Amino acid sequence: MKDLLTIDHLQTFFKTEAGTVRAVDDVSLRIKPGETVCIVGESGSGKSITAMSVMGLIGNAGGKVEGGSIQFQDRDLLKLSRNELRTIRGHEIAMIFQEPMSSLNPVLKIGEQVIEPLMEHLKLSRKAARKRAIELIKQVGISRAEQIVDAYPHELSGGMLQRVMIAMAISCGPKLLIADEPTTALDVTIQAQILDLLRSLKEESGMSILLITHDLGVVAEMADYVAVMYAGKIVEQGEVEAIFANPKHPYTKGLLRSKPIMNQLQDELYSIPGQVPNPLELTESCYFHDRCEQCMAICRTKQPELTTVGDLQQAACWLYEEEKRYA
Ligand code: SF4
Ligand code: MG
Repeated sequence: MKDLLTIDHLQTFFKTEAGTVRAVDDVSLRIKPGETVCIVGESGSGKSITAMSVMGLIGNAGGKVEGGSIQFQDRDLLKLSRNELRTIRGHEIAMIFQEPMSSLNPVLKIGEQVIEPLMEHLKLSRKAARKRAIELIKQVGISRAEQIVDAYPHELSGGMLQRVMIAMAISCGPKLLIADEPTTALDVTIQAQILDLLRSLKEESGMSILLITHDLGVVAEMADYVAVMYAGKIVEQGEVEAIFANPKHPYTKGLLRSKPIMNQLQDELYSIPGQVPNPLELTESCYFHDRCEQCMAICRTKQPELTTVGDLQQAACWLYEEEKRYA
């Protein structure tokens, strides 16, 4: 099946007074129609920057795409004008964020905010847009939709607000929904409800989801395919079952060991020793070498590339290059 989104060798950098931060460095990723792809990693690994680059919003954050391409269907998003991008954004690609409150206008009623994109993108009349807004709010599982349209954001709980954001995101029938930590700010039961909602909306509409999370529990719930990011690079990617059953990269193994197992008491949760490297001090090494229990001499001097390991995944680690050499 043809990809819906194809990110190829994406490089997004931030120029700072202290030097250039290569926030996303040579990231390639594909999403097929109807597929959920998760990008997982610690904060600062480049997950959100990848998403912002796809949305064409990275300039607002002070960064710049310096290389690569982002194909959405048959268009290179990096070559579109601002207006063309704006039409795609919200209409064909929609995004939801961790903090729904920060994307909503606190002084406008919920209904007004849902109605606005419907009038702009779908050219509905105000009356038709209001009717559609109420349907959408019901569709995301809010029962008192008629009252909610006349409420202000501060009158709703975090979970309700995230549902409203989802209603706005799906209002124009996007082919791709980008969700950046959509449940991180919510408590556990609400988290599960929001993930259920995303899953059922995806099933109904056939849209694809690019889900960004630091939480492997969310990955296990949602993903068909997963990419693990570390210090701006994808260090491992593959089918979710393969990655969970048989992680190859030492970083992925560490993440999986540090994941709490549901309904199971763990005396001590493993935590990966050390810290993510300073993005201004990266060298031509494996960026994980300081924290890796299996570090070899070559790891300190040369960066491993993503290579196919087994049938279903790729990892960037010298362990597997060595394996191949002596096979
Ligand atoms: Fe560890 Fe070396 Fe693999 Fe990096 S390349 S993860 S340091 S074994
Ligand atoms: Mg982030």
